[in-house]
Formats: sequence, C-alpha cells, structure tokens
Amino acid sequence: MNLRSLPSVDAVLATREAATLLESVSRAVLTDAIRTVLDRHRNQILSSGSGEAPSAATVATKAAAWIATELTRDLPAVVNATGVVLHTNLGRAPIAPKAIDSLARAAREPSAVELDLTTGARGQRDAHVARLLADLTGAEAGMAVNNNAAALLLVVDSLASRREVIVSRGELIEIGGAFRLPDVLRRAGAVLREVGTTNRTRVEDYSAVLSRRTGLILRAHPSNYRVEGFTEQPSRTELAALAHEHGIPFVEDLGSGALVDLSTYGAPREPTPAEAIRAGVDVVTFSGDKLLGGPQAGLLVGRGDLIATLQKNPLKRALRVDKLILAALRATLTLYRTSKDLPTELPTLGFLARTEQSLEELAQQAAGLLREALPGEFEIDTIPSESEIGSGAQPTATLPSRAVRVRHDGWEADQVASFFRAASPAVLGRISQGDFLLDLRAVPRAADLVPHRIETIPS
Ligand SMILES: *Cc1c(COP(=O)(O)O)cnc(C)c1O
Repeated sequence: MNLRSLPSVDAVLATREAATLLESVSRAVLTDAIRTVLDRHRNQILSSGSGEAPSAATVATKAAAWIATELTRDLPAVVNATGVVLHTNLGRAPIAPKAIDSLARAAREPSAVELDLTTGARGQRDAHVARLLADLTGAEAGMAVNNNAAALLLVVDSLASRREVIVSRGELIEIGGAFRLPDVLRRAGAVLREVGTTNRTRVEDYSAVLSRRTGLILRAHPSNYRVEGFTEQPSRTELAALAHEHGIPFVEDLGSGALVDLSTYGAPREPTPAEAIRAGVDVVTFSGDKLLGGPQAGLLVGRGDLIATLQKNPLKRALRVDKLILAALRATLTLYRTSKDLPTELPTLGFLARTEQSLEELAQQAAGLLREALPGEFEIDTIPSESEIGSGAQPTATLPSRAVRVRHDGWEADQVASFFRAASPAVLGRISQGDFLLDLRAVPRAADLVPHRIETIPS
C-alpha cells in the first residue's frame, strides 16, 4: 500500500459519519481530528510499508473516537492507591465536601471578594481568611498567597531585599520541581548567608555573621530528608531571642504545617504553626494543600506589622489567590474552628486517621471485587503495606497500611501497573519487591480499585 491510497480530508468530510459528527462539533475541529487520524496512518505506512488503507468511513469513525477522548475529556481523574496520601503529582490534598460547595458557589455567583459590605467601601481580599488564620495559630495576623513558594518569595522580597538572609547549611533544601531555597532567595534579591554545617549548627554560628546587612534569619523545615545521628540545631526560642536582640525578623518556612496535633489521630506529629508562633517566630509560612487538607495556597501568619508590610508589596498582587481558592480555603479553615469530627469532614485527616483494622476490611473487600472483575490469569491477595504522608511531612515515618497485591501469570509488575494505569480513571499503585500493590490508605472506597475502561482510539 502507498500513501496515495489514503482517503483525502475532503473525502472523509463527505461521508455520512462526518455529517452526523458535524451536528455536534465544528468543521474546524472535525478537520483537525481527521488530519490527526490520517497522519497516524501515514506514519504507520512509512514505518512498516504495509497495512490496509482505511476507508473514508473508517477514518471518520476514528476521528469521532479522537474527539471523544482528546477534546471532551476533563483533567484525567486517577485513583490514588500509591500509599502516599499527599502526592504532589496527583494534586495533593482532596478538598473537603463543604469546601467544594463553597468553591462551586463562588464560581457560579458574584461574591464580596474585595468589598466591605458594612461600609460599601473597597475591602481586603485576605480579610476573609486573616481572622481564621490568626485564631487557629495564635498569631496577630494572617494572609494567603498562591502557594508556599510564593509566600517565601514575598517574605524575602519584602523584608530582606538586597540584604543577607542567614540560613543553616543543614536547611538549604530542595523540595523538588526546581524549588531550591538558595535559588528562591536569589530571585527575591537577597544574599544567602550560610552558617554552620550540614549536621550541626549552633546559635553562635548565627550571631557571628549578624551585621547591618542582615535582613532576616530564616529557618526551613527539612521536609523531604532527615539529618540523623551527630546533630545539633538551636531551638526556636534561642534564634528568636538573637533576632529580636538585633531588631531583625525571624522567619520559618514550615512546609506542611499541620493545624492540629496529628498524634491525636494516630499519625506522626508534625510541627504546627501555633508552636512556632509561641516560640517567638515572627512570620511562619506553610502550604494550604498539604496536611492542612485545603486548596493550593501559601499561608503566612505572624506579627501584624510584618504582615501589613507584606500586604503592601506590589508582588502581592501577582501572587494573590483567586476567589475559588479563597472560598475553599475559608471553608476549610472554618471546619478547623467548628467541626466536632474533623476526620469525617476533612478527607486528608480521614485518610491519616484510618485504623489498620478498617484498612484490612477495605483491602479484603477490594480483593473480592477485583477477583470478580478480572480474568483468571490475575492472582489477587492482600498484604501488610507501609503508607506515607507525602509532600514533605515526616519523610522517614511510615503509617502501617494494607494493600491488595495483583500479580498476573506471564506479566512483569510494570505490565500490571500499566494495565491499571490504562483504566479510566487510571488506578495508580506502586511496585514493591517486584510486585504491584494497591495501597488502601488514600482510596475512598474499595470499589474504586476496580479498573474501568472507556473506548480507546482504535489504531
Ligand atoms: C512543600 C514545601 C514548600 C513548597 O510549598 P508549595 O506550597 O508547594 O509551594 C516549601 N518549603 C517547604 C519546607 C516545603 O515542604
């Protein structure tokens, strides 16, 4: 077969199938789809030199399938059976149902985002979350920006531009996705002043480099690693005392920042913004979509005068949160103030609070459903598993969990993984010791693990 035996775009557009499609899509979209399908056939002919030329009607049918999968699809939904509760590549925290309601309402209807309804004058966007943030952390003031990286950028740009920021060598973190603390400081126009060593830094190391050029002392939470063994780090109280003696701010990038003591729910403890504020930190930054369990945001709490300075920085306008985030964030923070049963209302906390027994029950149920749904070559059982919080909380701690192990006669584990990934929604597990595992920790319902297919493009 040669390239000339392929039907022309016009020939495909003239088919009955194309006429039906044109009732629901524009001619431009259909033409694009036909070109894509024809390109695929052309490449196939060029690479293999063989194959049967498709009829114009076949190309039209394939174009319909392409439109269905490529153009009418949402952001691809996935089931998170990786065992990592807050997975950055999967969008981190699921949002609480009440927060989703608020978000949807804000999307549908106008809201007083920047209008003071008492006076009728212009209001402050952050006022909708400032009080809640302050109350929940014991700080004087609070505000929100796009994410924690933006929060840090804003703090350094506002308080230490063209001045030195003192950071311990044990805390020069890279979070991933090109977030490296030294680079962020440089972009914010500050000069990094490293002190101490990777494993030991003392308060004297900080005081030795303090000068008129110092803009602030920064402490960063080592989110994704742990320095263990022969280590030393000054306490927050010591650093706060040193900073205040010299009249400079002490800032902490807390990373995840849980608003509640996670040990209450059986999970490993994470430092809270409240304890940082109590120890004398002037500004604490943390993420909205990590342990807090809300939408993506960077939260800042601390001294009223410093937060006011940040609000006045023109960068704030570029980093501000939109109304949907604001609505979801406010609703999530409100849950922390009012809910009598947080793990039921906040999915992230609910996942962390799951007991081994409830995970075992879910795993048994899921294994049963998978045995029914999959052909006999699949071998399915349940095993103990280790899940993690993810997104930089407790990098070395694991939570005991349960997983369904799926093996297939004649397949490697990565083939089983791609079989589950091809489902819609994609079911994502992890490979451990040569086996494909589906961890139940962050899976809402057992039935979610059963892979469903949608029609894919016939090639
Ligand atoms: C996750 C993290 C960040 C980045 O936060 P984003 O909200 O993803 O921008 C910064 N610092 C620390 C310590 C973190 O753990």
